[in-house]
Amino acid sequence: MYKYKETSDNRYILSVDNHTEISEALAAFCREKDVRSGVVGGIAAISQATFRFLNPATKKYVDKTFDEQMEITCLAGNISRKDGEPYLHLHVTASRRDYTCVGGHLLTARVNGACELFVEDYGLDGVGRKFDPETGLNLYEL
Ligand code: FE
Repeated sequence: MYKYKETSDNRYILSVDNHTEISEALAAFCREKDVRSGVVGGIAAISQATFRFLNPATKKYVDKTFDEQMEITCLAGNISRKDGEPYLHLHVTASRRDYTCVGGHLLTARVNGACELFVEDYGLDGVGRKFDPETGLNLYEL
């Protein structure tokens, strides 16, 4: 699913295997290394992705799937816990064949090429998430 190397003080280089779904692999990595809070970033080539947009007026999520080859030019996000499970808050920008970009919250993305991430484990427990009715978001509970 992925390969990794610890660089120093709770930092990791992560290579997600070809044809693997990125958020699934990242959640599995967080479980394996017991990362309870941290930051993640990276780049990838993907063949399919579903992005999510929160409409603040309706507080409803709108998801859109792209079935095409794209380059994730920037994946940025954080790791926390909700109900004892890894909670990934990931944003991406991805470029298309015509060099325009689409983006949003990353729900799923399938690697088609390479996926190179870094993870920094803050080493902190108690970084949770709590639903906030005003925004419709699962906000940090610090
Ligand atoms: Fe967000």
